[in-house]
Amino acid sequence: MTANSQASRNADCQVRGITTSRYDHARSDLQFLLNNEPSYRIDQLWQGLYGDLADPCDITTLPAALRGKLAEQLPEALSEEHRSTSDCGETIKWVWRLADGSLIETVLMHYEDRSTVCVSSQAGCAMACGFCATGQMGFDRHLSTGEMVEQVVRAQRASGNRRVSNVVFMGMGEPLANYARTWAAVERIHGALGLSARHLTISTVGLAPGIKRLSEESLPVNLAVSLHAANDRLRDDLVPANRRWPLATLARACAHHAATTGRRLSFEWALMHDVNDTLRDAAELADYARPLAAHVNLIPLNPTPGWPTRGSSPNRVREFAAELVNRGINATVRLTRGLEIDAACGQLRASLSTVDIGTARSEAPPSLPE
Ligand code: SF4
Repeated sequence: MTANSQASRNADCQVRGITTSRYDHARSDLQFLLNNEPSYRIDQLWQGLYGDLADPCDITTLPAALRGKLAEQLPEALSEEHRSTSDCGETIKWVWRLADGSLIETVLMHYEDRSTVCVSSQAGCAMACGFCATGQMGFDRHLSTGEMVEQVVRAQRASGNRRVSNVVFMGMGEPLANYARTWAAVERIHGALGLSARHLTISTVGLAPGIKRLSEESLPVNLAVSLHAANDRLRDDLVPANRRWPLATLARACAHHAATTGRRLSFEWALMHDVNDTLRDAAELADYARPLAAHVNLIPLNPTPGWPTRGSSPNRVREFAAELVNRGINATVRLTRGLEIDAACGQLRASLSTVDIGTARSEAPPSLPE
């Protein structure tokens, strides 16, 4: 089946109000599709979809006629629009077209000790962080649970023998603004795909009520807060959600999450030249992170079309990291994996609409210690 015919069939399903990903269905829903079949068929189907990551056509434990019927009833939601590979094959980024034509992104990153998938939770984003390519696009819609789970499945299929060990909800969108579907995806990825809760991370710009809700869930997942500024004046500007949930409110929610789950908190900090990369910014960040025992991840900002500020220089990054360490904070400088394929959220989709993707290139990543 071509990508276009798949997309058109999915669009037709969506118009009729039917879920569009085979991974949207809970086990009990799938049972309905097997109403005249022996009870063990559900185990075979579930194992085929989640254990073997197979297309229904290829679940050979099922009779051929049933496979054909299930293939019609359980389409995939993601049609591959574009795939880019970088870092000697260690980073793969996809742009997927959804049934309604929306475009989303997924990134797979292989490391020596793990393979991580960065999943989108929304098409676009309403949080309007000015430096972020996704924020610059605006909001299209929430993703369904199945559309999130399918991103992990498709990445695992591409990984071959290297098992996807970690999932971060850090792609396009604000996961806590799409709470119920995101949490259902977390449960499915844990329960059906078998990833440990300690290897699942929800990232947020700081929606305090969502963080509190997360704290009460049965699975203790990791929390990553995209902080970027540790005073309200600057953060109001960089991360508009801060105007609603300022730093003091955010700190209380983070402390509650750490206390109830036992999971380490991390702060993401995109270093922007002369915006948030001075020693004074580092001191403010240290004062904010210390009482929360938060780990800080420093990432030089990837350039985006709609934000004139560039990322911090390698020297500035080192000085900033050293200042944090001197002040007792655990900090890691992260290489911007896949920078040449625009792996920061929203950048590949943004570039697809403006230039030929085959020639889209950003400057080479700075040489920084991991
Ligand atoms: S940084 Fe995250 S929350 Fe902010 S606009 Fe981008 S995707 Fe949305």
